[in-house]
Amino acid sequence: MSEPRQSVDAVIIGAGFAGMYMLHALREQGFTAQVFEVADDVGGTWYWNRYPGARCDVESLEYSYSFSPELEQEWEWTERYATQPEILRYAQHVADRFDLRRDIRFNTRVQSADFDDTTTRWTVATDDGSRTSAQFLIMAVGCLSSTNLPNFPGRDTFAGASYHTGTWPHEGVDFTGKRVAVIGTGSSAVQSIPIIAQQAQHVTVFQRTPTYAVPAHNRPLAAAEVAEVKAHYRELRAANRLTMVGYGARSPRGETNASDASPAELEAEYERRWAAGGLSYLGGYADLLLNKDSNETAAEFIRRQIRATVNDPAVAELLTPTNVVGCKRLCVDTGYYATFNRPNVSLVDVSQQPIEEITPRGVRVAGVDYEVDCIVYATGFDAMTGSLLKINANGPEISLQQAWEAGPRTYLGLSVHGLPNMFTISGPGSPSVLTNMITSIEQHVEWIRDCVVAMRDKGLHRIEATEQAQDEWVDYVNMVADMTLFPTCNSWYLGANVPGKPRVFMPLLGFAPYEEQCKQVAADGYRGFALV
Ligand code: NAP
Repeated sequence: MSEPRQSVDAVIIGAGFAGMYMLHALREQGFTAQVFEVADDVGGTWYWNRYPGARCDVESLEYSYSFSPELEQEWEWTERYATQPEILRYAQHVADRFDLRRDIRFNTRVQSADFDDTTTRWTVATDDGSRTSAQFLIMAVGCLSSTNLPNFPGRDTFAGASYHTGTWPHEGVDFTGKRVAVIGTGSSAVQSIPIIAQQAQHVTVFQRTPTYAVPAHNRPLAAAEVAEVKAHYRELRAANRLTMVGYGARSPRGETNASDASPAELEAEYERRWAAGGLSYLGGYADLLLNKDSNETAAEFIRRQIRATVNDPAVAELLTPTNVVGCKRLCVDTGYYATFNRPNVSLVDVSQQPIEEITPRGVRVAGVDYEVDCIVYATGFDAMTGSLLKINANGPEISLQQAWEAGPRTYLGLSVHGLPNMFTISGPGSPSVLTNMITSIEQHVEWIRDCVVAMRDKGLHRIEATEQAQDEWVDYVNMVADMTLFPTCNSWYLGANVPGKPRVFMPLLGFAPYEEQCKQVAADGYRGFALV
């Protein structure tokens, strides 16, 4: 492993898809950069999330870098939705292909970063005692990388093995013959429960909020489909960047409203999208996340599928969500609801009476003890802010923790007033988690690259978002969210999953308009930034 350099143009924190491309993009412009990464290899999310069934539910041909046409042509995806091991292999291939590892210091955690206003440089301190000076500090720490492990009373007294889906053991887990508790029913649980159930003696799922899931209809990719996409990759990538979510141009979103459709038309459209599978289900009509009545038509279609799939009406009822579909991240599944027909799977509702305690032998709810050998926490992440706040970033007068005490505030999701020369890739206030993450990452990396090139060209050495631009941006992000149904449920987008976390709708809706705004800010001479 390389020794960290003492002085570079940029320190990048994180070697997932964001950090890797940022390193490559800066190098191409002749900058020096040092990446720090906690893990022992690249991959970020796909390094850590090795739980059974982990896959990306953005299609593999689109959940991949577009910056290198050669990379795009040479890499062969095998399935419609790539598995975690395949995506990790892809990340490793990218690291090899672009010789990235020589500037990445693995097994190293950044502990603090301090900005010195006299030199306009950051000093970055790591847990191995190194100090690196850099003009720019680039946070590529991921949106879903700080795990949320609820502080249940007695949690640490459990005598069996406990796992969190987001920090799964590399050697895998054999659940054969085991009684397993799974806590949580979000995307990670929906993917892992059907597979754990095939192995375990018994699985008990503890559900606080039922979840909407649409079928993945995963399949091997046909050679003809791959060839077709590869022949027109440039057009597909460009078309994806004109969408609201940064992917899916191959199954365009409906432009009409569900409120204008007849019941027969609605049924046909939902049937069609259900049969196609995947997240495009919610793209059927333009108003599904704007109009509650329209949303209800899409929600009710899924509810009927659940009731038709699950044999026991009481279990089906418990599994049936009542809230708005899509205001929590829609899940994509393979046999999730049907898994509850298995004799070795049971469901415990913890919506009214929360998990009381973890005992040495299992999980206690409402005075009932569920004895298990293993507990799987599929309880999600301290999303978007968790990993950023773990780094003690200190501006000249204020730390990031102080700046975000009442919730995250950014300008463009790229920059924070009070923390000069610091950029956040896919930070709060940018579309990030509401999009194809790789599209968003590429757009941010390219914007940051162009910004630092422009600064070098003009002899500028300090950039900071103004307070006014940041205030206006935060108001704008909130205004956009308030036009939709997104704030209507307790999602992690709002920070509602982590007790005590300020409730702020963190991502911005709409990739294409956002990219246009970023371009305009740059074209206007980095409007909203103070440059020295
Ligand atoms: P999540 O969506 O936040 O789900 C966490 C689950 O744990 C929820 O069901 C939550 O219930 C439950 N939970 C949390 N605290 C609890 C408590 N104290 N008691 C009982 N239940 C509790 O986390 P995730 O499933 O890891 O997914 C996070 C995000 O990662 C996804 O939304 C998605 O963006 C991404 N992801 C994507 C994929 C994919 O592409 N296929 C796969 C996995 C994850 P409540 O709903 O009541 O809070």
